[in-house]
Amino acid sequence: MSSLYTLAIHGGAGTISKASMSAEAQKNYEEALLNALKTGETWLKNGGDALTAVEKAVVELENNPLFNAGKGAVFTHEGQHEMDASVMEGKFLNAGAVSGLKHVKNPVLLARKVMDEGTHVYLSGSGAEAFAKKNGLAFEDDAYFYVPLRYQQLQEALKQDKVFLDHKETKPDKFGTVGAVALDVHGNLAAATSTGGMTNKKHGRVGDTPIIGAGTYANNSTCAISCTGHGEFFIRAVVAYDISCLMEYKGLSLKEACRIVVHEKLVKLGGEGGLIAVDNKGNIELPFNSEGMYRGSVRSGEEKFIAIYKP
Ligand code: ASP
Repeated sequence: MSSLYTLAIHGGAGTISKASMSAEAQKNYEEALLNALKTGETWLKNGGDALTAVEKAVVELENNPLFNAGKGAVFTHEGQHEMDASVMEGKFLNAGAVSGLKHVKNPVLLARKVMDEGTHVYLSGSGAEAFAKKNGLAFEDDAYFYVPLRYQQLQEALKQDKVFLDHKETKPDKFGTVGAVALDVHGNLAAATSTGGMTNKKHGRVGDTPIIGAGTYANNSTCAISCTGHGEFFIRAVVAYDISCLMEYKGLSLKEACRIVVHEKLVKLGGEGGLIAVDNKGNIELPFNSEGMYRGSVRSGEEKFIAIYKP
């Protein structure tokens, strides 16, 4: 067992600029990110596993209405919530994913349950919710998920007849998909991602978040990745797995693999967003090609890092 651990988290990427953010809003985001980072780090510091660490960090962000996941999930075209989430661990390549959840309080916990139960990797819609009920997961009604600003965002999107990344607006309050990646002291990697998707999305639309290899991936021989951004592009670019493949088959460093995928391949396709990544040596990368990304990271023995805008 080594004493090395790392943890990185994100709260979404997009058009997030300092000019459009009040000092108070910025403080709230930074505090929320810091708390999630602390929760995951406490677990890792005490020898806890990477999978539970990322789950704990994501649950905390899901419960915070500032972010587009769990409580703060955005509205679909029909004015409902359809949440997606996934988890993956890098030792045995086990994974769990869920999509189209309307009332499950913490989608990431359901993804973990799907993984642990072991029969299937991916459950969707009413089948996923039935599985959640059977396993005693917490449910909430529509009122819990109703966040007034989200509703305004839907009205704006309907007016413009557009599908929005939740932060693609100029108001000071911008929110995002959440995710976490970690390396634990046992040398295991894990990743988790959770989202409400995109404002005004069609009923049944599934983004990259629950798709293993697109929005989420972990493999002990390479890295763990959690993505955020315009999901359709992340699916087409198979972003998370592509980074792992560049490391595994081409021997690239995490940094170089991330640069190629986020700043070359995605940009060429027109895909806006970013990701958080850690590798099995303790390196951390937080690349994005959008204006900003809510992000934070920590490595054993080092200060915590929190940032929102471009460096
Ligand atoms: N990637 C998410 C999706 O397309 C959205 C986001 O990251 O904000 O569903």
